[in-house]
Amino acid sequence: MNAYADMAKSLKLPTGAFIDGQFVAALSGATFETRNPYTGDLIATLPACGAADVDAAVAAARRAHEAGVWSDLHPSERKAVLCRLADLIMAHAEALAVMESVDAGKPIADCLELDIPETANAIRWHGEAQDKLYDQIAPTAPDALALVVREPLGVVGAVLPWNFPLLMMAWKIGPALATGNSVVVKPAEQTSLTALRLAELALEAGVPPGVLNVITGMGPDAGEPLGRHMDVDAITFTGSTEVGRKFLEYAAQSNLKEVCLEMGGKSAAVVLSDAKNIAEIAETQAAAIFWNMGENCTANSRIIAHKDVYDELVAELAKQVADWPVGDPLDPATRQGPLVSAEHFAKVSGLVDSGKAQGAQVVAGGEGAGGLLFKPTIFAGVTPGMDIYEQEIFGPVVGVTRAESDEEAIALANQTQYGLAATLYTASIAKAHRYARKLKAGTVGVNTYSEGEISTPFGGFKSSGFGGRDNGIHAHEQYTELKTIWLDLSE
Ligand code: NAD
Repeated sequence: MNAYADMAKSLKLPTGAFIDGQFVAALSGATFETRNPYTGDLIATLPACGAADVDAAVAAARRAHEAGVWSDLHPSERKAVLCRLADLIMAHAEALAVMESVDAGKPIADCLELDIPETANAIRWHGEAQDKLYDQIAPTAPDALALVVREPLGVVGAVLPWNFPLLMMAWKIGPALATGNSVVVKPAEQTSLTALRLAELALEAGVPPGVLNVITGMGPDAGEPLGRHMDVDAITFTGSTEVGRKFLEYAAQSNLKEVCLEMGGKSAAVVLSDAKNIAEIAETQAAAIFWNMGENCTANSRIIAHKDVYDELVAELAKQVADWPVGDPLDPATRQGPLVSAEHFAKVSGLVDSGKAQGAQVVAGGEGAGGLLFKPTIFAGVTPGMDIYEQEIFGPVVGVTRAESDEEAIALANQTQYGLAATLYTASIAKAHRYARKLKAGTVGVNTYSEGEISTPFGGFKSSGFGGRDNGIHAHEQYTELKTIWLDLSE
């Protein structure tokens, strides 16, 4: 048994929701189980929160906000606390990585190298930015002074997905806390453990009680009351487009709270006729789709290849997955663990079956590999109209589509309801610029797969995004309200 498996056995796991600086049971006493998706073992029993718990968390957040214990601090004081939190995350990096791995099925190597350090980095980056930002003075006549200032919104609800549980929380709470808000987090029911631990670490770092709360439970029971709450000023959501839409309805039917949505994708990698190093492109694109089991919103689940490079690319992709390490997520050599749940496994299998039935050719994989493991799967001959071309699979499945010209490749890439990210391969700097502008996506990687980094705004066009961006200083706009203060200077 490896060291991480040993650590997993001795982890102290949270068992309560986190409200006003304390772990608490649901007011109804209801609970739900959370299981390790690789072993199927029960790992924790958590409160199944409902509307009354949401009320308690929102009230605590509002009290803290109105008391000014966080919102009225000097920005440099909030910075110091958030930097301390980032330090604490890194001090507990191994334990957090193991917790994330057993809860979500994510490979431990990825948790250690990416999820945990990037979580700390996001919180530190937003904390550090906060005391370097200036407000504005508008041009006016000399007898007036117009200040344009940004103020925290107040109470923010953050509703999270299960694929990057800690990192998505950091993308939300980093800027929300840095700008002085109080936050109520609703993690995905499949993966709530690290959110609770992060809230506990935040208290230890000096975030006052009530400023960061975590309510656990099901979407309709805990997420919907948060979305409909009359005293929540904004919802920031990452998850499916189907559920994202509901938050717009909740806002419209309640207090018109601000809503920012980061949602699904069906991102394409376009390989133009002049692309070089097809073997290298195949290596990058295999990582782009099979990383995190394909449970990644920007995963390039479609590859659109010009006819001149299509056959070579399909052959090189197949070579990539010949010995892809699929298995125990706590083994540091594993690159692909189990899918997150039996329900999600059934969805991925169903879409793979539809690909076979609709005439796409299986080049690799195409079936499960025991338990909730799914083999890295490559389809060739995928065409528009097939379900695997249209629908987000959110699993380790990529479809390659053949284009007759570069222009057709770009048009095919844009032929989707989504617009989160895209990748473009070309040897021509002119084509790189021209076609990067033509691709309808929030992030375009040129000659590499990229989501940008913490300094670059992240979000989607079309049905992939609404209302703002995560990351970069642009994320602060989600969590602040503009105010004009007009002073009469005439005497
Ligand atoms: P999901 O939409 O099923 O759930 C997301 C959250 O919404 C969970 O916390 C869930 O409990 C809650 N929820 C579910 N039903 C609800 C309801 N009726 N009312 C209120 N809340 C409800 O998404 P998921 O399955 O957890 O995550 C996968 C999806 O997230 C994929 O579509 C993926 O593309 C997307 N995603 C997007 C990004 C991005 O930044 N664009 C990042 C990661 C994941």
